[in-house]
Amino acid sequence: MIRIARIAAGVSALTFACASAWSFEGFSDAPGSHMETMKTALVAVYRAPSSRPVLVKTMPVFGLKTYEWEAYRAADLLSDASRDIDSHFFGILYPHAQTKSFPYSRPLDAVRLRAIEEEALFDYVVHMGTWIDRVRRGFAAGDDREAGYLLGVLAHSYQDLWAHRGITNEMHKALLAHEGIDVDRDSGRVLEMRERLSAWLADLPAILGPEAGPAFLAFLRSDAEIAPFPESERKKLLGRGRDIFVHGIGFVLFTSSSVNSLRHRADIEWDVDVLDGLLRDGEALDAASRLSGPAELAAFLEARGYDFRASE
Ligand SMILES: [Zn+2]
Repeated sequence: MIRIARIAAGVSALTFACASAWSFEGFSDAPGSHMETMKTALVAVYRAPSSRPVLVKTMPVFGLKTYEWEAYRAADLLSDASRDIDSHFFGILYPHAQTKSFPYSRPLDAVRLRAIEEEALFDYVVHMGTWIDRVRRGFAAGDDREAGYLLGVLAHSYQDLWAHRGITNEMHKALLAHEGIDVDRDSGRVLEMRERLSAWLADLPAILGPEAGPAFLAFLRSDAEIAPFPESERKKLLGRGRDIFVHGIGFVLFTSSSVNSLRHRADIEWDVDVLDGLLRDGEALDAASRLSGPAELAAFLEARGYDFRASE
């Protein structure tokens, strides 16, 4: 009975939790959301033509939103796609710039903490590097619509770096519960994300390289309308369906907000400035994502000035 009551209470809290507390507002076009910040940055940096999204419906409980656009063009596609990590990769941590849970009940030594940070960085950097390469190959091959969609999806993982900076789900919840910090809505973090996102987008033609870069620019500036991606096509390209239906419930009901998790927050948080420098350097990102493991990446990052104790 207690379990049933807890589940009922948790599920009724899901609308808030999934729609507003997971990362920068995930599903709507509200100010500070993934979609709004992406569109605003694309228009500011590239004067990309775009339309205003019109809300069609909101899925009960989970808060997933469906929009329509008067004319769906590249900037609309990229901003729309920037929401899909939160629905399709809800249960996987690295696309949200986060670290997997680890034991919090007693202090861990420096060697273990460093290994935790190295592993999380490796997953994130390989994710960013391999997807950028997939986008690069798509634009170079003339598959603009597909490459644009994948780039929009990947942009979420860049945006989330400025909310999460490597923290675990438990830390995410504990920061709100015990320190009143909502990492996804904190005005300073949203502002920093807007600035960094604009800079990253401005660097994208260079990151994508001499073949794909010009194709990306032409795609973004074109007035041509694009067919929106139905869910079946998104699922095929992402290689997975919407896991929020399972993992969203797990996050609300079974993720602890105990203050214990904050004990090692500073030890495992990422050196985001050095990481950002890597993400904006296409050749270095390629090289980093081909390294054989976390220790090799750690050495590579340290050679670029990464400080494993940066946030302490
Ligand atoms: Zn996210």
